[in-house]
Amino acid sequence: MADQDREFIERSAILAAIEDSSLDAIITIAEHAQIRSFNPAAERLFGYLEHEVKGRNVKLLMPPPYRDEHDGYMRRYLATGEKRIIGIGRIVTGRRRDESTFPMELSVGETSVDGHPIFVGFIRDLSEIAREHRRVAELQNELFHVSRLGEMGQMAAGLAHEVNQPLAAVMNFAEAGKQIIGFAENLQDAGEALSGILEKIEKQAARAAEIIRRLQAFIEKRNIARSYEDINVLIEESLALALVGTRRRDVRVELALAPKLPRVFVDGVQIQQVLVNLMRNALDAMENQPHREILVATGLEEPGFVSITVADNGPGIDPSIAGRLFEAFVTTKRAGMGVGLAISRQIVEAHRGRLWCETEPGKGARFRFTIPLTAEGQALPEDGIG
Ligand code: ADP
Repeated sequence: MADQDREFIERSAILAAIEDSSLDAIITIAEHAQIRSFNPAAERLFGYLEHEVKGRNVKLLMPPPYRDEHDGYMRRYLATGEKRIIGIGRIVTGRRRDESTFPMELSVGETSVDGHPIFVGFIRDLSEIAREHRRVAELQNELFHVSRLGEMGQMAAGLAHEVNQPLAAVMNFAEAGKQIIGFAENLQDAGEALSGILEKIEKQAARAAEIIRRLQAFIEKRNIARSYEDINVLIEESLALALVGTRRRDVRVELALAPKLPRVFVDGVQIQQVLVNLMRNALDAMENQPHREILVATGLEEPGFVSITVADNGPGIDPSIAGRLFEAFVTTKRAGMGVGLAISRQIVEAHRGRLWCETEPGKGARFRFTIPLTAEGQALPEDGIG
């Protein structure tokens, strides 16, 4: 046997062993997205056997809307070379045979045989990793809450101190005014002294109002790191993040993301905090449901705004807190801090949007928020998601 042939056989044997024993799922697809091979780890992960999926389109393993967009994405890549995942690696959502979804890390390599491209996907199940490191995830979550809480607490303490001074002055002047009236022979004599005191009260009240106005301006400008973002991509990543670190519960996720949305000018990290918060709350609320479903949708229903919906089929909002849902420290959870929704609303309003909740008992909760569109965002290339 020629050396070349021997080397070829040896390499094939090694590759087969890698495919068989890899802990990561390895899937190869041809140029029209048909599955060519599906290793044992992929069988375990997705719940299909290789012979069941061989020849079928790989979009089978994706939740909508990605499954509907994948063909277009492949076509675009083959025609233009525009890459979204190939050679980059991303966190995306996968779909098992039982239609449940899970977070996964996907990297894709490309090669070709006789001029026909073949793509090799390596998939790591992040829900498994998360399970092992649940404590780490919990700690991260706590840290996120605590640091935010600390920030709010500090701000509140500073505010209380500053506003207390003019308020104490107002009270002193009011007390002095009462004494003047009490001691005055007639009100006319007291008039001059009283008008001086009222003027002072007015000044101090204006000082307190100015402190509060400055604080509001500060909150609006805080941590502004805005850029043009594709809201659908922010949602895709947030969903994977929200599923990481939660117990593996069979959750069906329906994504109804409007294609070709103009980009929005936002602090992406903050908007993701809002999204992860809403999604985590939805997961928490559905813990005791037999069927768990989250709907995440985007659209342009309101003129001048992108709107985002996160809905679940949990029990809906507890009537005892419905009126105070967005106030800080309102919670029905044993280990809850009750600041998630307060901070989320603050973030959305700093972006000049609105966040509210529509709920009917027994029909689950539907949280919605809006982000204003800008002229520049509309003009940016609209390339959707892939
Ligand atoms: P926390 O999650 O720490 O309680 P939040 O401010 O995020 O703080 O939520 C406040 C409360 O709002 C929760 O304790 C819960 O009672 C209620 N809530 C939030 N989202 C939902 C939801 N999707 N379904 C039902 N109740 C919810």
